[in-house]
Amino acid sequence: MTKFIVVTGGVISGLGKGVLTASIGKILAPSYKCAAVKCDGYLNVDPGTMNPIEHGEVYVLDDGTECDMDFGHYYRFMGFSAKKSSNLTMGKIFQAILDKERKGEFLGKTVQYVPHVTDEIKQRFYKIAKDEAADVLLIEIGGTVGDLENGLYLEAVRELAWEQGRDNVMFVHLSYVPIPTGVHEQKSKPTQLSMKLLNEIGIWPDAIVCRCSEYLTEKVKNKIALFCNVDEGSVFTGVDVSSVYLIPGELEKQGFIKTLEKKLHLKINPAGLEKWNSLARKMAELKCDGKGKTISIGICGKYTALGDSYASVVEALYHCSANLDVNVCVKMIDTEEIEKGKKVSDAVKGLDGVIVPGGFGTRGWEGKIKVIEYARKKEIPFLGICLGLQAAVCEFARNECGLLDANSTEMNPDANAKLITLMDEQRNVVDKGGTMRLGSYEANLAKGSIVAGLYKADNAFERHRHRYEVNPNYHAVLLEKGLVLSGMSPNKTLVEFIELPKNKHPYFVATQAHPELKSKLEAPAPTFYGLVKAAKEKAFGKK
Ligand code: GLN
Repeated sequence: MTKFIVVTGGVISGLGKGVLTASIGKILAPSYKCAAVKCDGYLNVDPGTMNPIEHGEVYVLDDGTECDMDFGHYYRFMGFSAKKSSNLTMGKIFQAILDKERKGEFLGKTVQYVPHVTDEIKQRFYKIAKDEAADVLLIEIGGTVGDLENGLYLEAVRELAWEQGRDNVMFVHLSYVPIPTGVHEQKSKPTQLSMKLLNEIGIWPDAIVCRCSEYLTEKVKNKIALFCNVDEGSVFTGVDVSSVYLIPGELEKQGFIKTLEKKLHLKINPAGLEKWNSLARKMAELKCDGKGKTISIGICGKYTALGDSYASVVEALYHCSANLDVNVCVKMIDTEEIEKGKKVSDAVKGLDGVIVPGGFGTRGWEGKIKVIEYARKKEIPFLGICLGLQAAVCEFARNECGLLDANSTEMNPDANAKLITLMDEQRNVVDKGGTMRLGSYEANLAKGSIVAGLYKADNAFERHRHRYEVNPNYHAVLLEKGLVLSGMSPNKTLVEFIELPKNKHPYFVATQAHPELKSKLEAPAPTFYGLVKAAKEKAFGKK
């Protein structure tokens, strides 16, 4: 029988419900099989068509689902490889309800929010729990308590607790304790008010985690416990930390395991977190003390205004930092500025390594190509991701193969040398939502290549999100001029990895996939590991 843990948020958004949910999962994962579901209130069926500037990175699952960034946390922390069904949006729920209504499945009844919509939500929870054979299902409710758009989810989880029994459902509320300037005092009132809102709808949290810039005083903890009806030992501080990877250890230190065990009658093995905690501490120390070796890696793209646009890329770099004992300082480089006249050498000044990440459209594209040319010629370690591979191929074609106007047809449909073209299967696609080549695909890696060495295998499975590919008509000329096509799709048509030989460049690798999506603290993405290692060697020598 599955136990359920529901995570809600109060007072303000952006407190880190996703990280909290994932951290609880991390604590449980060594002892219990965990799955997670994210409930979003918006009406998009999925976030695939949303601008990353508005909503952060679009995270892609193995099965090709484009979903919320929080699934990145679930994967990185709990190792939960979610499927499409785990990303609930109100758009998805209403679509299902309206489809059923049209098919006449409600048998002449009035279709209502309660019970029809809430039943639809609950049935999905039960189905996920069953399909994943989960001992524990974590349910994260997006938004803040009091928002109109998550009200139906809250009613559904109230009913869930009623159906499953209070020993099987635990509510964790993430709140905020501000310390106003000049007052110097931890204020519990916002937490009390958000708790009132929850109580009004019939939800009584079992644990409260309060985000705060310092640890809650005993006095404030007791006050929150009293006013919010929870055990004194079940009020925790979500203290500001230099790395989110410290959160599971923080919760553990404050006794969260005891609360979990008591509430849900579980037995948790605390040893499961040791390796994680030590890597997390190392990463945090590297970041803070500034004494260790530091390298700078530039992410050269156009969605640089919002850090979250490249969330997984940044996380993957931090994973390498902890495992390679080097502080990685991430710099966002806006390649559009290069197009407006900034010198490439100035844009990449001081960088020990360069990433050109995924992206869409012409803005910043020529700037990316210039950065790659510079990195290739000046032997700066380089990793290209998806659009970054496409840009690297165009750069190579222009500057090494004499194909002066080589381009992607996404950027210039009239180019003579159409190096990057729509994949055949994409030619008749009209709908924009969920129609790219999405999800996990295999690549066969060339024997002796850099990537085969990094993956320690002759194949790799990475997640994808693209419509364009390297035009097969140009494979021969690229190869002839010395570009190594080091990973190909099993049918040998699609270029998945490229590289320059080690004697030509310290690290020049690109992939059509998004390896950042599967990077973990305990197992960094191989191509990122290779980049950071090369950058470290460039900065500090081989030892
Ligand atoms: N725009 C490119 C394509 O669709 C690259 C996509 C990406 O980087 N995710 O193929």
